Amino acid sequence: MDMARPAWIEIDLAALRYNVGLLHERVGADVEVMAVIKSDGFGCGAAVIAAAVLDGGAESLAVGNPDDARAVRDAGIDAPMLLYASTPPSAAAQVAALDVIATVHDLESLAAFDGLGKPMDVQFKIEAGLGRLGLNPDDWQAAYGAVQASDNLRLVGIYTHLNGPDNPASIKRQIAEFDRAYKIGLGAGFNNLRRMVASSNVVLGYPELNYDAVNAGRLMFHLLDGKWADMIDTRPVMSAVKSAIIQVKEFPAGAVVGFLGPEPIAKPTRLAVMPIGFGDGFKHRPPLGEVLVHAQRAPVVGRRGIEHTVIDVTDIGAASVGDEVVLLGQQDGAEISGTELGDWLDLPLMEILPRLARTLPKVYLG
Ligand SMILES: *Cc1c(COP(=O)(O)O)cnc(C)c1O
Repeated sequence: MDMARPAWIEIDLAALRYNVGLLHERVGADVEVMAVIKSDGFGCGAAVIAAAVLDGGAESLAVGNPDDARAVRDAGIDAPMLLYASTPPSAAAQVAALDVIATVHDLESLAAFDGLGKPMDVQFKIEAGLGRLGLNPDDWQAAYGAVQASDNLRLVGIYTHLNGPDNPASIKRQIAEFDRAYKIGLGAGFNNLRRMVASSNVVLGYPELNYDAVNAGRLMFHLLDGKWADMIDTRPVMSAVKSAIIQVKEFPAGAVVGFLGPEPIAKPTRLAVMPIGFGDGFKHRPPLGEVLVHAQRAPVVGRRGIEHTVIDVTDIGAASVGDEVVLLGQQDGAEISGTELGDWLDLPLMEILPRLARTLPKVYLG
């Protein structure tokens, strides 16, 4: 890789498109795939990721941050895009300028959008049991009534985010609530509302809840864990994190190497340094794990710096300046897996990708 500072993450867009295709196969052609590309496309770049998921067969997008919506529109992408609740009522005009389907999560946001006096598509986010964001049951009737009375707002759908897919009884209770909200809409004359409740795990575990559209994020990025990961054969999108050695030092037995501690070292030691650190999403303190050099494992030693990592290459005689170092991914048949890296970082897989991708230079493959 021709980079002044060799430190980067490889993002496999072909794998992303493939995963979206798998998702669409799973839900069927009649169900809209609204691809969740929140948090800057899980750190991978909202506009690039938006283009890739649409290429892969998604019909629409969901973002959770106006900046991401703007990045997608600035890239000339005009697919329908839902903006999750993420703004106070005072930002209604800024939201309207983004050309998104806005989320109504309370009566105040509804009034603020209506007050702009311009045509605007909205969706209701229904509080069905998660307890985070959404229109409370007491407000459903009033919310439908306010849309009916509005010359500006067009209600295109209702959605919710289901809590705890490991617990079918809880899912059933939340769906009963959601259905109640839907029926109140029917009663008020909203006959064409699109319903959406399925995030990744729900798509896999409760196919009867795919409804009109599904709203999956992690599945497309190969970021599911446990039994959910086994339910669909997605490919890794974060395919590698790499750096390169910029200095190698040799120390004889008995030398005092400050980086390794105050005691003289017991045996001859070779250390190599690479320009990637905790500022790039890794950790300062042990456990720091291992990396691959010449397809062999080398332990990370000492403490990681904000921009540097030191590895022990005593047993890798060939290691020298310029050599590729793999912190995640494969090298000539050897591999550091995402699960392994997650154990060292003490982070679930879904946190690693946004953390590393957001900070490291990105190289897109495929
Ligand atoms: C993040 C999110 C999703 C997608 O969840 P995944 O587990 O990534 O599929 C769906 N809906 C809402 C409201 C979300 O915030």
